[in-house]
Amino acid sequence: MRILVISDIHSNLAALEAVLADAPRHDIIWSLGDVVGYGPQPNECINLLLEHKHQHIAGNHDWGALDKISLESFVVPARKAALWTRDRLTPESWAYLERAPLTYTEQDVTLAHGSPGDPIWEYIVHSDTARENLARFQTSLCLVGHSHIPVVFQQAAPEAPVSVMRPSGEALSLTCGRYIINPGSVGQPRDGDPRAAYALLDTDAKTIQHFRIAYDIRATQKKMRIAGLSQRDITRLEYGF
Ligand code: ZN
Repeated sequence: MRILVISDIHSNLAALEAVLADAPRHDIIWSLGDVVGYGPQPNECINLLLEHKHQHIAGNHDWGALDKISLESFVVPARKAALWTRDRLTPESWAYLERAPLTYTEQDVTLAHGSPGDPIWEYIVHSDTARENLARFQTSLCLVGHSHIPVVFQQAAPEAPVSVMRPSGEALSLTCGRYIINPGSVGQPRDGDPRAAYALLDTDAKTIQHFRIAYDIRATQKKMRIAGLSQRDITRLEYGF
């Protein structure tokens, strides 16, 4: 099975459209949470996903918009965006976000937005956090989002140290141990590259490949400005931070 792996769309329709147009042939989409928050088009992003065969899980911004978690731990612009989103979600979008599970497991792969140990809140950006979390799922591979940073953590053998790799853009073989992999963010990259990020997982070939695709950042920024969303979050899109 060939799976388009996406995460952290954050209501950025132009970025999601660019990814779907650019993605190589795939059988299904796995969306790792935070479909909404920050950006200007929450319902449009959900509706576009619903046109495609996909599996989704919940993210902290999805739950923030639904009022399932307190917004006190969100930074002020994120909190404002969550309230803005909450006011605009259609009943159908609300129900869609509501039914997303916290984790999902299929084909020897676990999906979790933050981490398998704490799917809503924990960031996996360091090898020590990755190492702790390798004990918290049973499959060979775990796909996470949340940090908006494309990264591959690998543990070649039980008890071996965890190595950290920045994805090269080449297909990576997943046959040596266990992995935690982040595809990066579709709608708000934070690794200094403003292009939308995604990955393609091939469960037959046992490979994953990371991709970047430019999209119309100005179109999203313009919609955010009209919506009155935070200037910080408008600006960051063109720098990828
Ligand atoms: Zn996010």
